[in-house]
Amino acid sequence: MKTFFAQLLTLILLAALASSTLAATSSIRLSELADGQASLGPRLAFLEDPSQELTLTDITARQAQDWQPSEAQVPNFGFSQSSFWFRIEIINDSTTPASHLIEVGNPALDYLDLYVVANGQIEDKVFTGDQLPLSTRPIKHRNVLLPLNIPQDESRTLYLRATSEGAVQLPLDLWKAQSFYEQDQYSLAVQILFAGIMLALAAYNLFVWLVVREASYAWYVLNVVSITIVQLALHGVTFQFIWPELPSLNNLILAAAITSNVGFVLLFTYSFLNLHKQGRFLRWFTLGGAGAAFLLCAFSMVVSYGMAMRMAALMIMVVAPAALAIGIYLWAKGDVLARLYTLAWSVLLLGHAVLVLNKMGVLPRNVLFEYAPQFGAALEVLLFSFALAYRINLERQRRYEAQSNALVSERLARSAKEQALQVQKEANEHLEVRVAERTQALKSANKRLEEMTAIDGLTQVKNRAFFDRQLADEWRRNARERHDMSLLLLDVDHFKKVNDTYGHLAGDACLKHMAQLCRECLNRPGDFVARYGGEEFAILLCHTDLKGAGIVAERMREKVESTPLNWEGKTITLTVSIGVSAILPKAHEDMTRLIRCADDALYAAKHAGRNQTKASNGSLEVFSV
Ligand code: GH3
Ligand code: MG
Ligand code: MG
Repeated sequence: MKTFFAQLLTLILLAALASSTLAATSSIRLSELADGQASLGPRLAFLEDPSQELTLTDITARQAQDWQPSEAQVPNFGFSQSSFWFRIEIINDSTTPASHLIEVGNPALDYLDLYVVANGQIEDKVFTGDQLPLSTRPIKHRNVLLPLNIPQDESRTLYLRATSEGAVQLPLDLWKAQSFYEQDQYSLAVQILFAGIMLALAAYNLFVWLVVREASYAWYVLNVVSITIVQLALHGVTFQFIWPELPSLNNLILAAAITSNVGFVLLFTYSFLNLHKQGRFLRWFTLGGAGAAFLLCAFSMVVSYGMAMRMAALMIMVVAPAALAIGIYLWAKGDVLARLYTLAWSVLLLGHAVLVLNKMGVLPRNVLFEYAPQFGAALEVLLFSFALAYRINLERQRRYEAQSNALVSERLARSAKEQALQVQKEANEHLEVRVAERTQALKSANKRLEEMTAIDGLTQVKNRAFFDRQLADEWRRNARERHDMSLLLLDVDHFKKVNDTYGHLAGDACLKHMAQLCRECLNRPGDFVARYGGEEFAILLCHTDLKGAGIVAERMREKVESTPLNWEGKTITLTVSIGVSAILPKAHEDMTRLIRCADDALYAAKHAGRNQTKASNGSLEVFSV
C-alpha cells in the first residue's frame, strides 16, 4: 500500500513534466502488437473530472492540452473522488485482418464506461464495472473486455471513464483476441490452482484443528480463507463465478475479507508465536490490532467502501511491517518458530512487492510476476502449514522432555527419600545401640547404687534394710518350694566393756572383725550376713534345717572365740552368743516368727552364760545346740 503513494508521487512528477509539453500523441498502431499484446498505459492521455459530471460530449470538446499523457505502465490515481477519463487512438495499419480486444485488468473498478468513437460518432459503448451485473459486459469475464474490430487503414478512438471508491488503477491492454485467449488459459489456471491449493490447505488444517483443538490452526484456517477471498475477489473470480448478478457484494465482501484478514493474521501471529509469553507491548499490539481490524470489518458494512479501504490500507501499512518486525525480533531472540514465521511472511510480502514492481513496469509482464501475490500467498500458507506441523512436533518434544524431567526429578526425589530413610534408620539403630548401652550402664549404676544402699557402711556386710527385703523374698520362695529356712542371730558378749576398755574405735574394729569372721563361715551362695543393729548380726541360711543351722552357728561361735582381734598391738578376744531358729515357711504365715524364735534362742543363750548357741524350731521351745 505504501507503494500506492510512491506511485502517486511518480505519477504527479511525470504529470507535471508532461503538462509542460504538448499533449501526447496517445495513439497506437496495431502493427506494434509485437507478441499480440501491448500495454496501453504509457500511451494514454488522461483527464481528471473531479465533478464526475462530464459526458463524452464534454470530453471530446475539450482542448488537446487539457489532456495529459499518462506514461505510467499502469495509471494509478489511488483513492480519489474524481472520475478519470482516458483516451487513445488505435490505428489499424496491419495487412492481416484480425479481431482485437481491449482488456481492463482491474476487476475492482466500480464503474467503467467505454466508448469506441469512429469519425466523431459513437460506434460502441459499454457501461460496466463491478458495481453492475456481469451481464452488462460484452464478454462475461472477470476483467472487462471490449471486442474491437477496426477495418484496415482506419482508426478508432477509445474513451474510458473510470470511477471507483477503491484505488483507481487502470491496467489497460490491447490484445490480438487469439493471444488473449491463449494467455487467459494460464491466468485462469493460476486462479484455479491458487484456489485449489488454498482450499485444500484450509480444509486440511480445519481437520487438524478439529482434532488437536489448537488455536493457531483455527486462526490459520480463517487467515487462509480470508486471504483466498481477498485474492479471488481482487481478480474478479468470485464475481465471475459465484455472484455474477450480485455486484453489490463485490465491495462489501472485499472490504470485509481484507479487514478481517488483518485480524486473523494478528491472532494467528499471537497464538503461533506464543506472544502471551512475551512483553505487554507485543500482546497489546497484536490483540489490540486484531480487535481494531474486526471493528473495522464491522464498520466496513456501514461506512463507504472508499473509507473502509482507506482505513484497511492504513492498517496494512502498519501491520505488514510490524508483523515482519515481530518475526525478526523473536527470531533474533532465538525462537525457532519465529524463523519460519518470518520466512513465510516475507514470501507473502515479496509476492506483493513483485506485483507492484510489475505494475510499475520494472519487471516484465508474465504470468509468474502478474500473479506474484497469489504465488506468495500460496507459498506463505504452505510454509505456515509446515510451521504448524513443526510447532506441534516441537510442543510434543517439549512436553516429552518436561515429562521425562519430571520422571527424573521424581526418581531423584524418591532416592533422596530412600536415602533419608536409610540415614534415619541408621540413626535409629545407632540410637537404639546407644540407648541399650545407656540402659545397661544405668542398670549397672542402679545395681551398684542398690548394692551400696544394701551395704552397711562400717562392716561392709548387708544392712538391716536389705535383710528385711531379702527375708520377705526368701520367705515366699521357700514357702513355694517347701524348703526350710534358718536364721542365726548373733550378739557380741559384753561389748560395752570393749568400748569402755579400748574405746569406740576398737569397738568398731571388733565389729568389722566379727563381720569378716561370719562371712568366712558361710559357703553357700544364697547365705548372707547382715548387720542387724548395734553389735548384732543376722545370718540367713536357705534350704537349711535347724540341725544344719546349729552346726553353722557353732562353727561361727568357735571361730570367733578362737580368732581374737589384734588391735594396735592389743589382743582383744571376743565371744558371741547365737540364737538359731529354723522354720518351714508358709505363704500366709507371719515371717516375724522366725525372728522372734531366733531372738528367744539368743536371749536364752545370753541367759545361760553367753558364748553358746541356743536353738528354737519355732514352737517357742529353746534348746541347746
Ligand atoms: P551382753 O553380753 O549382755 O550383750 O552385754 P553387752 O555389753 O554387749 O550389752 P548390750 O548388748 O546392751 O550393749 C551393746 C553395746 O554395744 C552398746 C553400745 O555402746 C555398743 N555398740 C552398739 N553399736 C556400736 C557400734 O557401732 N560401735 C561401737 N564401738 N559400739 C557399739
Ligand atoms: Mg546387744
Ligand atoms: Mg552384747
